[in-house]
Amino acid sequence: MSETKPYRVLLYYYYTDIENPEEFAAEHLKYCKEQGLKGRILVAHEGINGTLSGTVEKTEEYMNMMKNDPRFKGIVFKVDEADGHAFKKMHVRPRKELVTLRLEDDINPNELTGKYYSPKEFFEAMQDENTVVLDARNDYEYELGHFRGAIKPDIETFRELPDWVRANKDKLEGKKILTYCTGGIRCEKFSGWLVREGFEDVAQLHGGIVSYGKDPEVKGELWDGQCYVFDERIAVPINHKEHVIVGKDYFTGEPCERYVNCANPECNKQILCSEENEHKYLRGCTHECRVHPRNLYVKEHGLTQEEVEERLKRIEEENTVKM
Ligand SMILES: [Zn+2]
Repeated sequence: MSETKPYRVLLYYYYTDIENPEEFAAEHLKYCKEQGLKGRILVAHEGINGTLSGTVEKTEEYMNMMKNDPRFKGIVFKVDEADGHAFKKMHVRPRKELVTLRLEDDINPNELTGKYYSPKEFFEAMQDENTVVLDARNDYEYELGHFRGAIKPDIETFRELPDWVRANKDKLEGKKILTYCTGGIRCEKFSGWLVREGFEDVAQLHGGIVSYGKDPEVKGELWDGQCYVFDERIAVPINHKEHVIVGKDYFTGEPCERYVNCANPECNKQILCSEENEHKYLRGCTHECRVHPRNLYVKEHGLTQEEVEERLKRIEEENTVKM
């Protein structure tokens, strides 16, 4: 048996009626803070969506507290071991929706959703010729890792997904459609929406990518790269049989799984880049971001104007050589 680490990271959601999300959020925040938990939780009339970290003991207490609340009967937690907290603060925020899909006519996944596939069923269905696998996440999540052969809809945010589907019907019609996302919450609605759009054979990965990686039988097989997560870990391994790197360095295209945020605080774009290129490009995704007066990289490293100029010159020289 593996050694148990002192902390845990929890990931969970539950669609259920919450009468007063504002009041619930305030009380929940107070409780979480008292327990020394850290993380991000969203609360809406339609339910709860959270990820948090804490000691083994306190996360255990939290899960029991939730499971004993009749509103959350049947809630499932994905549990990762960790060496410490995966968040800096504790937030509980009331929201209109748990996931931002902004449908004109909203979907209640308890009434309408795609079939639930276990990791094993998903693994098998993926290999069927007449199947399309549709990634329901954002592009920066896909770029770090995805199921082999999965379609990446050409969109920037989740709420653009319905329009993308309508414009790309020919790719999907008459096929079995498999959808997946990190923990499963986005697919609950998205797969329901696909069914309502008239697609007949729609299934979602139950428990999401995270559960797929934990399944003792499939062991994450057919997943390439790593899974993007919304905490300080950023990337977690999924495929325990082989590790294929699909991420590409933003600057050089070389294999890379290291995410950083652009040093221009007004841009903050997430880019995959090696340590070497971070230094070389002042962690700026464009020339404008490199020379931005508030560039955080320049500040962190205490670079003088002269040193900045020198690096910019080197980038320019190299680009000229390539041309
Ligand atoms: Zn930038």
